[in-house]
Amino acid sequence: MTTLAAPAPVADLLYRQRAYWATGATRSLDFRLAQLKALRAAIVKYQAEIIDAVRQDLGRPEFEGYFEIAAVSELDYVIKHLPRWVKPRRASLPLSQQPGAAWVQPEPLGVVLVLAPWNYPFQLIVSPLMGAIAAGNCAILKPSELAPTTSKVLAQLISDTFDPAHVALVEGGVETAQALLAEKFDHIVYTGGERVGKIVMQAAAQHLTPVTLELGGKSPCIVDADINLDVTARRIVWGKFLNAGQTCVAPDYLLVDERIKDDLVKALTARIRECYGENPATSPDLSRVVNDRQFDRLLALLERGNILAGGEHDRSDRYLAPTLIDGIGWDDPIMQEEIFGPILPILTYRDLGDAIAAINQRPKPLALYLFSRDRQVQAQVLDRTTAGSVCINDVILQFAIWDMPFGGVGSSGIGGYHGQYSFDTFSNLKSVLKKPFWMDIDWRYPPYAGKVKLFRKFIGLS
Ligand code: NAD
Repeated sequence: MTTLAAPAPVADLLYRQRAYWATGATRSLDFRLAQLKALRAAIVKYQAEIIDAVRQDLGRPEFEGYFEIAAVSELDYVIKHLPRWVKPRRASLPLSQQPGAAWVQPEPLGVVLVLAPWNYPFQLIVSPLMGAIAAGNCAILKPSELAPTTSKVLAQLISDTFDPAHVALVEGGVETAQALLAEKFDHIVYTGGERVGKIVMQAAAQHLTPVTLELGGKSPCIVDADINLDVTARRIVWGKFLNAGQTCVAPDYLLVDERIKDDLVKALTARIRECYGENPATSPDLSRVVNDRQFDRLLALLERGNILAGGEHDRSDRYLAPTLIDGIGWDDPIMQEEIFGPILPILTYRDLGDAIAAINQRPKPLALYLFSRDRQVQAQVLDRTTAGSVCINDVILQFAIWDMPFGGVGSSGIGGYHGQYSFDTFSNLKSVLKKPFWMDIDWRYPPYAGKVKLFRKFIGLS
């Protein structure tokens, strides 16, 4: 008799989930809705712990802590619409295929792996998770080790709420992620940087596992001369400096019509003071940089250019003041990588066409922002640039519209999710054709003699 070696914990977990999935228990609409409601109740129950955890991990103010809890609003949307999404979607039959019926029947894929980053460490686990559950899958979750307190709260919440054969969370760092990636999943969702995105896709390729990659990059923000200056400054300062700039869809840099640059800088500086006070180090509303490595990287980016506002810092507290900087060119380090911190470079343009050309010479952004009242400018930017998402006259908020896909394009990501787009991502959209026996016209069977003319007609040739 041969003795089998004990399976590694990750393989064992996956084996249990596959066995559970194969029972069909996750398929019924009632089961899915019950699990989604249990997740909602758990988030409500743990809300204080979640807000405290992101405060500990990122110095996040309570208000911004609620961005994590806002996952319940997407959950409500999913719970409301799921009964419609699970239904077969009727397809029309061409004349040549009649009689019969055709439909697209969504079915679960199996076991989904979710790998998440540290910057919105709760929300970026829970949002893909609800899509995986809604589509009838099992899921294994791996939060980021760089937000350790949130990872612990998540582990507790998930083990309190779900049978691990259905949804399980594995804590750990790079090695754990690699052990998971060595296994065969039915879909992998990875949120994080581009470098690791390539590692994830390579690992997935070994099993031909489909991936959704939610990556980052430099999201430009164009500011035309035809704007409401104060509202523009309020919105940009909010979107850039919330979570200390560590938001994937934060405006990375400004491209400003040179005629209004000085006025915009004044308005932004005044707004930073209104939001964070004379000394932002003492503001309760400014998050901290996640770790020393990121802090040192950000300070190095400040070595070139002129600091117009901010720049003060304290490594012991990983504090970096909201900072505006100009006098930099496209070749400076700050324009070569995603900033992901509270530094806003300000570049100018004279001709909008040049600004568009500069954006188009660089990797396709996750988000693109435009501030302008001018409809022609709006149309020109929309038609001549590409991005995962666009928001006109505001920032970030496009992320939270559950009726639109969220994702990148090119090196900012592959695939989109949220709402029904998550449901479809985690489903196999199975095409079904059903034919009756009562009619069986002879036109497609050999011998073909004399049938070519009719076939040509069927396929649309005269
Ligand atoms: P991170 O370092 O926390 O990594 C993300 C995940 O990858 C973690 O679970 C980590 O354990 C795992 N990982 C790290 N190295 C690995 C390796 N060598 N092999 C396998 N797994 C590994 O997060 P990060 O990459 O610093 O996240 C920040 C980036 O994420 C930014 O570029 C940001 O724009 C992007 N982001 C994108 C979105 C989006 O929705 N598109 C959202 C948030 C963040």
